[in-house]
Amino acid sequence: MEEIFRKSSCEICGSANLNEFASIGHRKIAACRKCGFVFSNEFNPLKVSEAYNAGPGPVKMSGLEKDARIRAELIKTLARCRELSINHKLLDVGAGTGEFIAALHAIYPALEIYSIQKTKSAQELIRDRIAPGALIGTDTDSLEHINKQFDIITMLQTLEHLNSPLKTLRTLYELLKPGGVLFITVPNINSYQVMLRGIDNNYCFSNETHLQFYSRKSLEAMLLKAGFKRKKRIIPGRCGNATGIGMAIQFALRILCISNELRYIAFK
Ligand SMILES: [Zn+2]
Repeated sequence: MEEIFRKSSCEICGSANLNEFASIGHRKIAACRKCGFVFSNEFNPLKVSEAYNAGPGPVKMSGLEKDARIRAELIKTLARCRELSINHKLLDVGAGTGEFIAALHAIYPALEIYSIQKTKSAQELIRDRIAPGALIGTDTDSLEHINKQFDIITMLQTLEHLNSPLKTLRTLYELLKPGGVLFITVPNINSYQVMLRGIDNNYCFSNETHLQFYSRKSLEAMLLKAGFKRKKRIIPGRCGNATGIGMAIQFALRILCISNELRYIAFK
């Protein structure tokens, strides 16, 4: 018999008063009536793994892996918050195929980079790109066995895939040195795309590996609950290929917090 995972309460506020409002493939989606957090309260873990491994290549690549401009922009943002040219220890959780850490390593070779990646074929790509030993874990459970502390932790487009995001954020908080920073990005449930396309939105709801759906409010609440005292929303001035009026519109969407992605730096 196939295992089905069920959640009966909200991970942020603990309320069991849930409004199950959608059923998408193997997932049921609910909103907490108390704090508004939206998450999958029922899903099939086997289907999640299948969705990860589907696609034409060994791993499905996201925009972050395909687009060098996105990586460059993220690195610039990170460099504004933390010195990267010295031998800081950096952990990338959910490293994808390693394109981001490879780009970081190319610009800042002094950084000591470590990564966590679940998909086996992606692990091999990371091993090819970064010096051996950089991969120190294969899932979020392995975070608890790491006996290092980090100056910087990056978790790009990963938190939405996790089954127990608050637990993971608490572990990351513990893994940071005092004064360390967490750089995090997630899809935005209040984006104009979701407004236009609802649950058919590919970037947010219809991706079968997404289990949590964050708004500015719920992400901030979860970061605070995990222990982070200070957090800062990052509004990128320019990224992507839009110019002129297109660029102005993109910037306005970000200011209004209705662009596709939420970006935060959280400080320990
Ligand atoms: Zn709640």
